[in-house]
Amino acid sequence: MTLPCIALIAHDQKKDDMAAFAQQHQQALSRFRLVATGTTGGRIQDACSGLQVTRLKSGPLGGDQQIGAMIATGEVDMLIFFVDPLTSMPHDVDVKALTRLATVYDIPMALNRATAERLIDFQ
Ligand code: PGA
Repeated sequence: MTLPCIALIAHDQKKDDMAAFAQQHQQALSRFRLVATGTTGGRIQDACSGLQVTRLKSGPLGGDQQIGAMIATGEVDMLIFFVDPLTSMPHDVDVKALTRLATVYDIPMALNRATAERLIDFQ
């Protein structure tokens, strides 16, 4: 049986938060297949040695869009994206693209930790 898949992304200012979130919910996350953008995935793996994370390209180099493609092909069941609303970034548009695709394909999506905590609690 294939496990459902969570895609995880955190902007730079939110990576500590993502590592702490993953540590806190390591047991719940272990019941999913995990994919992440490159740096975020590395931080999660460093924080949680027991979790296997498939690391894609770094977000600014196309990793966000790789996750978008996986949403479009039905390979992602939930998106957890800790966005930094206070810093402008070259790949700002990726936030909009991913929220649009998550809406089109009607998958649960958390853009901050409070929502992610609640989504994980429901699993
Ligand atoms: P990163 O990408 O995990 O490779 O830093 C995240 C992003 O900024 O989109």
